[in-house]
Amino acid sequence: MSEQADQDMARKPATAATRAAHAAMAKALPIDDGADFQLADRGFLATVPDAEVTGAWSQRPFGFMEGERPDTVNPSLWRQARLNARHGLYEVTPGVYQVRGFDISNITFIEGETGWIVIDPLTSAQPAEAALKLLRECKGDRPVTGVIYTHSHVDHYGGVLGVASPQDIAAGLRIVAPEGFLEAAVAENVLAGNVMSRRATHMYGGLLPKDPQGHVDSGLGKGVSTGRVSLVAPTESITHTGQTIELDGIEIRFQVTPDTEAPAEMNFFFPKFGALCMAENCTCHLHNLYTPRGAQVRDAKAWSRYIDEALDLFAADTKVMFASHHWPRWDEGAIRTFLAKQRDLYKYIHDQTLRMANHGLNATEIAELLRLPPSLEAEWHTRSYYGTLSHNAKAVYQRYLGWFDGNPANLHKHPPEAAGRRYVAAMGGADAVLAEGRRAFEAGDYRWVAELVGHLVFAEPDNRAARALQADSFEQMGYQAESGPWRDFYLTGAQELRNPRPKSDTPRQASPGQLRTLPADNLLDSLSVRLNGEKAGAATPDFTAVFTDTGERFAVRVENAVLHHRPGDGGPPVELTRGLLIDLVVGAKALEEAQLEGEGAAALAELLPLLDRFDLWFEISAP
Ligand SMILES: [Zn+2]
Repeated sequence: MSEQADQDMARKPATAATRAAHAAMAKALPIDDGADFQLADRGFLATVPDAEVTGAWSQRPFGFMEGERPDTVNPSLWRQARLNARHGLYEVTPGVYQVRGFDISNITFIEGETGWIVIDPLTSAQPAEAALKLLRECKGDRPVTGVIYTHSHVDHYGGVLGVASPQDIAAGLRIVAPEGFLEAAVAENVLAGNVMSRRATHMYGGLLPKDPQGHVDSGLGKGVSTGRVSLVAPTESITHTGQTIELDGIEIRFQVTPDTEAPAEMNFFFPKFGALCMAENCTCHLHNLYTPRGAQVRDAKAWSRYIDEALDLFAADTKVMFASHHWPRWDEGAIRTFLAKQRDLYKYIHDQTLRMANHGLNATEIAELLRLPPSLEAEWHTRSYYGTLSHNAKAVYQRYLGWFDGNPANLHKHPPEAAGRRYVAAMGGADAVLAEGRRAFEAGDYRWVAELVGHLVFAEPDNRAARALQADSFEQMGYQAESGPWRDFYLTGAQELRNPRPKSDTPRQASPGQLRTLPADNLLDSLSVRLNGEKAGAATPDFTAVFTDTGERFAVRVENAVLHHRPGDGGPPVELTRGLLIDLVVGAKALEEAQLEGEGAAALAELLPLLDRFDLWFEISAP
């Protein structure tokens, strides 16, 4: 490959247009406002160098945050990234402590009568263990006497075995979570698991170098830890608002907030400390109504209403408010203002999107027009570091009206490759498209480059010049993005256009770890979306799966190329464990090795080849 070709596929510096966009934003914002830095530093007690946790986490690669802002990073995101680079143990108020910056999320410790109550034990065990060690060194070597999961996302429960041993759990350690936690934790990402996992590789920047031209921050936190993840079921559920429990001698009052930031989530208040935990419902940025890795759209109206209810329930007694990400707030007046503005942030987006939709504007048009009112725009905690106004407006539109904007021209569009070939031909061929793309790039119109040259990439995926130009446009948009996930999407897309992964004949599957945690019912559900309709054709395998590990029996049959399952008996039985079924489905074990027992073995053998295996590394920015 020539030097010129190498250069075309190299990472590039910020262009003049990107530097100008950054300068304009820096000028428009009070970028030297230090108020959040004071909040983020308040109560600091101790840390470990670089928050280093062997094999799972380190802030060392982010040492460049101590210097001047590189011109490849949006100035507002840079500010948030510096706040999220702080790490260590902090006193929120005497009796309430947080370790921040050891993962994307916070772990909080409450001083009980005899030990420590843990709120949200991070994503993986090693950072949670390191946080507990730091706490014990500074504030007392006491046992863990209870665990609370605020909600059903993995960065709030996955590290539980770092703070509690299997023996503690067997001995009856209390683990408290909102009702519906387990179902939401196991089911939210199952049916669309492969595609969500693949898109998450873009959203969280896990494939990018950590440097000024790569991943700098997720907005929500510095990044996700990579230690041991597990799911330990709660021992008790919080079912209703107003429910009060005593945990290690500490009274806790709960507010359940289902279908807000997560399907199962709750806020709660500690009267003894005047401390309010807002879970992930109120954080120091605009959160996602729609998460770009892909998920069902969240309910902005309910989210806002529950924040309003929290104000009513708790604000009068609250002296400090903390959350599962970012830094706390002190002072009753400041907390009220913060909560009221967070409440109105989500309601404003909801209401204004629907107002404009009712005037006949479509999602793209609304996203382009929507601006916050001055009172909300003046706050840092309403800014688009994670969710953006743009994609959240589209989310509200989608929740009420779906993908179609009503214009018949958009009812039956050609898919990207077919459209790409037609556009390229209509524009006079590849060279003409590239010439116009380069002109737009020089003019700094990167959104237009992405749309235009995207047609050429899909028409001619092996066109190096097209891939290089498309990557260059993604890269500048990544540099300009205020949102951590937008930056990581753009920069990961650029990286993959420049360095395509070699194609594979066999599916490179994501780890089947998630499947193994599923109840049998969810596991069988996940098989139904693997059934290849064309292959299934008129086949009608029919058997009863007898799970010898759980004693459960499920009637499983295929009819009209649809996989049905229900508890109970159906066709002839076949005995196996859930683990063996997973191994057979993902190909970790061959059918001959399995030595299945029962008359239904032949029907299971007929079903297995009809199930697809998914490749995690499908292309996103190219066909
Ligand atoms: Zn979280």
